[in-house]
Amino acid sequence: MNDVVIIGAGVTGLALGRRLANEGKNVVVLEADERVGGPIRSLKTSGLVVECGPQALRVTEHTITALEELSMQDRIVEGSAAVNTRFILWDGKLRPVPRALLDRSFFKKRELLRMMAEPMIARRDPPRPDESAFDFVTRRFGKAVAERLLDPFVAGIYAGDAHQLEMAAAFPDVVKWERSGSVVAGGIGSRRGAWRAPAWAPKRGYTLKNGVQSLVDMLAGSLPGDLLKLSTPVDRVERRGAGFLVRAKGGNYDASRVVLTVGGARAAAIFAPGPNVPDIAHDLNAQPTSFVASVHLAFKASEAPSPEGFGWLSPTSQRKDVLGVVWVSSVFPAHYPGRTVLRVMIGGAREDVSKMTDEQLLLRARKVVAEVEGIRADPAYTHIQRATLPQYNVGHAARLARLRESGVDFVGWPYTGNGVDAALGAARNWS
Ligand SMILES: Cc1cc2nc3c(=O)[nH]c(=O)nc-3n(C[C@H](O)[C@H](O)[C@H](O)COP(=O)(O)OP(=O)(O)OC[C@H]3O[C@@H](n4cnc5c(N)ncnc54)[C@H](O)[C@@H]3O)c2cc1C
Repeated sequence: MNDVVIIGAGVTGLALGRRLANEGKNVVVLEADERVGGPIRSLKTSGLVVECGPQALRVTEHTITALEELSMQDRIVEGSAAVNTRFILWDGKLRPVPRALLDRSFFKKRELLRMMAEPMIARRDPPRPDESAFDFVTRRFGKAVAERLLDPFVAGIYAGDAHQLEMAAAFPDVVKWERSGSVVAGGIGSRRGAWRAPAWAPKRGYTLKNGVQSLVDMLAGSLPGDLLKLSTPVDRVERRGAGFLVRAKGGNYDASRVVLTVGGARAAAIFAPGPNVPDIAHDLNAQPTSFVASVHLAFKASEAPSPEGFGWLSPTSQRKDVLGVVWVSSVFPAHYPGRTVLRVMIGGAREDVSKMTDEQLLLRARKVVAEVEGIRADPAYTHIQRATLPQYNVGHAARLARLRESGVDFVGWPYTGNGVDAALGAARNWS
């Protein structure tokens, strides 16, 4: 009998499997794919490191701790100073943040004053757990901030819609800050006693030698014995006594506890109604997702000068045909010698691009960089990647609470937090 069966070997499942094995637990990690990492994939091609998932990692507690535990300090590739300069598209021009705040064409004086009045706005009592991110930010900082800063920020992180996103699920820390009286004061106060990066840590956003995939490869490589089973999709989870029976390709696994890191329709299929199957398929199916295409365009540096900065995001009111563009060669020049590489993000909650062909996506990406950045050269290399992102829309917390009544554990991207650091944190804190 296994203590824990973990379904999915993304960063969450790998980190949790490693932790539990180190604690002496009998654990197995079942992965449908023949590789680990889910969306985290770094292709080494044409002399470039093309990221299919996360482009960069942040200097945050769980990621830095994991890198230290895996002795990966010497694998870090720090981003150029450009990593800290981000732009927002406004009136056809790229405005650097936060300098844009003082730009009168971006915020009018009264909008700025409304934003600065945030500490004086009374907190909402009692809090509304299902408030949308847009409503929360409008209430605290004014509508202009919600439309011009939150909207593109949400597009960049979630590829989501700020009107739909549940504030408490998507930005739990900010909601906590409000409870202390004001978001600004709470945010400043949270720095006291907060985690401090060790001296060896990079000072700004970074990647790893050979790309972000090195992290999941190292995690997988550090798992003892045959704990990790690749090419082993789980078909079904049934209740057995006080525990579960997990039916997977090639064998069944008894477990006291089951941790599910998969979401949406793939998870619902595992719980399709049947004898002894927890009745959760409906709630799993109901989780919204958004579809994103990321298009890499690599130009000869001599034909397209590399822009300086991390890249830009577009508020919905400005361009709906693009979420934003990451200037990957500006941030990590060592991974793109002699090339100017732009990663154009298209789709999300703004537009369903799931039916667009490669050709249509490529045309769209080239149109955007031509119009916004003036780059009209023919790319020397292109790559298109499609991904589905779980959304924490209004109703997320209530749905998660219902799911948990089944006795199954729900950890990872579709449930407990977006991004690599949240995944590593969820794995560390699971009990
Ligand atoms: C385009 C893109 C850009 C991103 N950018 C960033 C970024 O800049 N920074 C950041 O921090 N994060 C970013 N993310 C998000 C980040 O990649 C995810 O939050 C994180 O990788 C999720 O890890 P996870 O283990 O929770 O889930 P997943 O990695 O999705 O793991 C779930 C695993 O379950 C497996 N599985 C599915 N069905 C079954 C089954 N039936 N049986 C067994 N296994 C199954 C899947 O194959 C997968 O490996 C980005 C994601 C994408 C797609």
